Amino acid sequence: MTTTLDKTEDSAAGDKGPKPMFEGQRNMATQIAVYVFILVPFAALIAAVPLAWGWGLTWVDVILAVAFYWITLLGVTVGYHRLFTHNSFKAKRGTRILLAVMGSLAVQSPPITWVADHRRHHAFSDRDGDPHSPWLFGTSPWALAKGFWHAHMGWIFDKDVTNKERFAPDLMADKDLVRVNKLFVVFTTLTFLLPALLGGLITMSWWGALTAFFWAGFVRVAILHHITWSTNSICHMIGERPFKSRDKAANFWPLAILSGGESWHNLHHADPTCARHGVQRGQIDISARVIWIFEKLGWVYDVRWPTQQRLARLAVGKD
Ligand SMILES: [Zn+2]
Ligand SMILES: [Zn+2]
Repeated sequence: MTTTLDKTEDSAAGDKGPKPMFEGQRNMATQIAVYVFILVPFAALIAAVPLAWGWGLTWVDVILAVAFYWITLLGVTVGYHRLFTHNSFKAKRGTRILLAVMGSLAVQSPPITWVADHRRHHAFSDRDGDPHSPWLFGTSPWALAKGFWHAHMGWIFDKDVTNKERFAPDLMADKDLVRVNKLFVVFTTLTFLLPALLGGLITMSWWGALTAFFWAGFVRVAILHHITWSTNSICHMIGERPFKSRDKAANFWPLAILSGGESWHNLHHADPTCARHGVQRGQIDISARVIWIFEKLGWVYDVRWPTQQRLARLAVGKD
């Protein structure tokens, strides 16, 4: 499984050869925290099914859940992914911090950890070294089922920590990002407490606080987790591949809206620094639209928008 690890083109590698893949292992407390924060929101979602509209779920809960969903989703897609991982645009300091904080509220990991894992995904996509490829176990039905589980959420339980010095040295040198990174526990607490606080204040009741805590806290986090993970699992298995990428990344249209445009994953792997992933006619990409609005507001600049010539070069069948 490790034969090809050091032979791949890894742009983060220095002159003295690549730094080690891992910087160590998670300690027990972090590992337990990963289990709790990944499994408890999902268990909450299942427990929620019998709850009925009217007494345990109101419009206040729905509106708070939708608002927190989009704040945290865009923190991940626009901030963690398109800005911090791929530098597909530049952002002013306040906007960078805002996006880092929004992403930190998504209960996925601190920004620098997320970026290091995701850059490793692109450096080794669907080969040994990819943290979450569904194709590492073979192509039999059993191997694919195992691969789907691994790519979707199994990989999160791996104890190996991606080396941030190797994969994200630029962010390690950014004092603002390091500060946000260190406050991850605070943001994780806030992402559950803020909906409860707002639900309580809007309804002026403890019950309103509790239902908002449940729906806009746990259920929202669980749904966002699974949508994000689907990019790693479903979008590396099923869908169309109109652009040339050296892996199995595919465009999966049913998740376009809920994923904020991230399910146009084939184009993303064909052209990772492109700020827009849904580049073809009718491909809705809400994250790209948000970047466009931020550009108009002057919050971000040097956006790498796709050009027709570039897309033509990347299209399958063209050399
Ligand atoms: Zn991918
Ligand atoms: Zn990416």
